[in-house]
Amino acid sequence: MSGKTPITVAHGDGIGPEIMAAVLRVLDAAGAQLAIETIDIGEKVYKSGVKSGIADSAWESLLRTKCFLKAPITTPQGGGFKSLNVTVRKTLGMFANIRPCIAYAPFVKTLQPKMDLVIVRENEEDLYAGIEHRQTDNTVQALKLISRSGSYKIISYAFEYARAAGRKKVSCITKDNIMKLADGLFHKIFDEVAAEYPDIENDHWIVDIGAARIASRPEQFDVIVTQNLYGDILSDIAAEVAGSVGLCGSANIGSKGAMFEAIHGSAPDIAGQGIANPSGLLHGAVLMLQHIGQNRTAQTIHNAWLKTLEDGIHTGEIASREHTKETVGTEGFADAVIARLGEIPQRLSPVHYGDSEHSSCISIAETVLPPKQDKVLDGVDVFLDWSETTHPSDLAAQLNAVQTDKFALSVISTRGLKAWPDAVDDFKIADHWCCRFTAKDSAKNAKLNNGDIAALLSTLHKAGFDVVKTENLYSFDGQRGYSVAQGE
Ligand code: NAD
Repeated sequence: MSGKTPITVAHGDGIGPEIMAAVLRVLDAAGAQLAIETIDIGEKVYKSGVKSGIADSAWESLLRTKCFLKAPITTPQGGGFKSLNVTVRKTLGMFANIRPCIAYAPFVKTLQPKMDLVIVRENEEDLYAGIEHRQTDNTVQALKLISRSGSYKIISYAFEYARAAGRKKVSCITKDNIMKLADGLFHKIFDEVAAEYPDIENDHWIVDIGAARIASRPEQFDVIVTQNLYGDILSDIAAEVAGSVGLCGSANIGSKGAMFEAIHGSAPDIAGQGIANPSGLLHGAVLMLQHIGQNRTAQTIHNAWLKTLEDGIHTGEIASREHTKETVGTEGFADAVIARLGEIPQRLSPVHYGDSEHSSCISIAETVLPPKQDKVLDGVDVFLDWSETTHPSDLAAQLNAVQTDKFALSVISTRGLKAWPDAVDDFKIADHWCCRFTAKDSAKNAKLNNGDIAALLSTLHKAGFDVVKTENLYSFDGQRGYSVAQGE
């Protein structure tokens, strides 16, 4: 064995081949220990008839090396082509997206000169499962799914990343004041995991104020861990505010592989001119080196890059009259970084990724299903498409007139707001009703089951109600596992 880490490299489209060549030169000059295998992806592959943009033969390398340094590609418009990123992400089980967002003031224009944070975004769960249903003329639902194991995996990764990258604090961002169960679970697991890392500070923010603070006082954050949708929005806000969208790299980390890239696209407008900035992809490569445990090399390259920037060696799109001494092209920029390997920036803060080499890969936590709890069926929410009356008390009267064996109607709500009993609104424009049925007094001691729910549904159907969905109401070890309506 050579001690080199095998990686798979794709040179991509547009400016991809130019910036990849520059990045590979920097990696080589810095002494990165890499055994490179090259695959074809992107436009050429799409146009050869492969809808995913990646040929079957390329998977063999990716699944073996489990480490993918990818240049941007051009996605052809129309024609049923699938997103290459989504295909790779799903196939390699990539649960984490890591995006450092850093300001390089005064050398790169920024709204927040002190910004220096990393967003660790969960990538497999949440509303991104894309499970949606239209249920009435007026109403569509999208399901937000959060699991204990998925939350544990991403939160543990964020703490491990913080430790490996020499960062001091991890902040959790949720909306658990509203989504007490789904976001509450994420927050609870964050508190559990944080207790295992006493060397790293932690705090929690509600997403609205958290987003506002990222935009106004980003120095309060170091590493942020959050769910898929919040992470998507927050990472774009942060990159934009930092002013470094063109310089950002990102990592997608998975149990079966990891992918590292720039966040910008293939820039066809400047392709072939030798003027593209290789910095975004170089930052992707720095994240890769950290991932595979070549921390010292990652640190050397990153500090040389910072020194290049503060020495005023800039590519055209970030050049300014005040701070640029020399405007260079892609290769010239790579040469300047190589010339500064081993140097430390004087005005920008140097990075510290630890001194280890080949020893401290960022580990991914093993996840297991939690132990079984005592799960008891308390009742069922029956959702009705109903627009025949102007007041929910009419609906309640009609439901109460139906003879059910084990269930009694306890509450009606619409869009989470209690509508019966004792409602204040007249709910004239609702057609989507949640009717909560719980055990009748006479059935309190009998264990409810799905057969009882089926009997209830059959009775409601015979009485002419349009049931659009049901949700079972469970308690786990005596703890309620469902929300109550506002006002209930
Ligand atoms: P883009 O990021 O490629 O370009 C936006 C603007 O930024 C252009 O003016 C471009 O010249 C400039 N720019 C981008 N990278 C630069 C660099 N390294 N140096 C200097 N200037 C740079 O976005 P777009 O034009 O919307 O997309 C072009 C193509 O890239 C599309 O086909 C899109 O699908 C694809 N894309 C791919 C990825 C990826 O592979 N991960 C990501 C985004 C977009």
